[in-house]
Amino acid sequence: MSIVTSFELRKYRATKIVATIGPRSREPAQVRALIGAGVDVFRVNMSHGTHVEHAAAIATIRHEAAKLGTHTAILADLCGPKIRMGQFAVTPLTLLRDAATTITTRAVVGHAGLISSQYAGLATDVRPGDRILLNDGAAELTVLSIAGTEVRCRVVQGGVIGDHKGINLPGVQVSAPSLTDKDRLDAQFALAQAVDFIALSFVRERADVDSLLDLLGPAETRPAVIAKIEKPEALANSAAILAAADGIMVARGDLGVELPPEQVPAAQRQLIRLAGRHDKQVIVATQMLESMIANARPTRAEVTDVSNAVASGADAVMLSGETAVGAFAVETVEIMSRIVYQTEAYQLHSRRRGVRAALAAAHGEVSAGDAVASATAQLVADTQACAVVVITSRGVTAATVCAARPAAPVVVVSAEPATCRRMSLLWGAVPMLDPATGQDHPNVLARRAVQRAGLAGPGDFIVLVRGFHADRELNTPTITLLSV
Ligand code: PEP
Repeated sequence: MSIVTSFELRKYRATKIVATIGPRSREPAQVRALIGAGVDVFRVNMSHGTHVEHAAAIATIRHEAAKLGTHTAILADLCGPKIRMGQFAVTPLTLLRDAATTITTRAVVGHAGLISSQYAGLATDVRPGDRILLNDGAAELTVLSIAGTEVRCRVVQGGVIGDHKGINLPGVQVSAPSLTDKDRLDAQFALAQAVDFIALSFVRERADVDSLLDLLGPAETRPAVIAKIEKPEALANSAAILAAADGIMVARGDLGVELPPEQVPAAQRQLIRLAGRHDKQVIVATQMLESMIANARPTRAEVTDVSNAVASGADAVMLSGETAVGAFAVETVEIMSRIVYQTEAYQLHSRRRGVRAALAAAHGEVSAGDAVASATAQLVADTQACAVVVITSRGVTAATVCAARPAAPVVVVSAEPATCRRMSLLWGAVPMLDPATGQDHPNVLARRAVQRAGLAGPGDFIVLVRGFHADRELNTPTITLLSV
């Protein structure tokens, strides 16, 4: 048997791309080029920048997306109780192994022997013997003693730290609320900007998601909520968190500091499966093509990482510094898109239905929606249908159908622009705005949608799924096999 490495590409990419907008990517020409290269969702990171800057970036994205006719969505990422160091007299600076240093919650300008932090609860949360990781684990301290605002430490692993870099306290019960005062202001800003998704950092339990949901108002009009899984507590509570949130992000940056890094791949795979079982979306994030911040080509390991995330069933893969501050932002999105296309082509070629479908099949309990979705995927495989069409108002049916990973694009027809933008994170979904939804006959809508998407020609089969309602009592799910 000879090894084949290149496969016929699908017309539409099923796995979506989220890109963080930042100083290197927020000019109109850059935004236009990034959308052209394949960005489906822009992440606005509230950890950096001002509301004025974010509002300007959002306006640019909307303007350029409207000109290009894309349903590009916006995700506002709230910082949560991220603990950070303050400022140093000289930065970056190196902490030497075995040196003594103190972390203080007083507002002072720091040096190697005195590090300030704005987090007032630090000295009461930690105990002697606890580990403190600085700058994504670049340096590690152990706590020796605590006196008032001062936490005396020894440097266990030396490393480079700098202004406002992160502090992680693995295994420590952090007393700060998950939704800080800054998060509340940022969430109000995001609501006023009518963003499509709001992500919450450092979620620990379901109640954290619920407190954000309370702030956001009615389910029909609020942005979708993405819980960032980056603490061991969140892994332990992931099913409950997924039940409340609309999706999750595998935030591997902080997760890989809070957990031994070799445990992150297993966490990633299990979170992807769990999200699939809940028909919720999952984004795999951080350091996917990190070396492209400074280089025009990724490492082979990075290419494989993106491909593995796609193969294991993620809805979306995310870029952070690569597009926010990187020198090759557009090239990074281009290569990410190529990796996704090629991986999906291989999966289709080998007729794999993906881990989720296999798992759903192995998983005893199947809801009516999942049964319809898996029958849809089976019908697509048996008839070689070119597309699935879902007619929806809020996208719930689309999420259910896409979770079964059918081997054809899922054209999501809706009269709602906001629903179309929400599809930007959903695996396999091809949004199709049609104001006649609800008026024209569903078969007419479906045939028109696949022709507009360029997915089917005369004689091709398409599968139409409809009849789901928010009120389960009213459900009359129907699968129709149509020829074009
Ligand atoms: C992460 O920690 O992986 C992450 C996505 O969060 P942030 O980029 O906000 O640190």
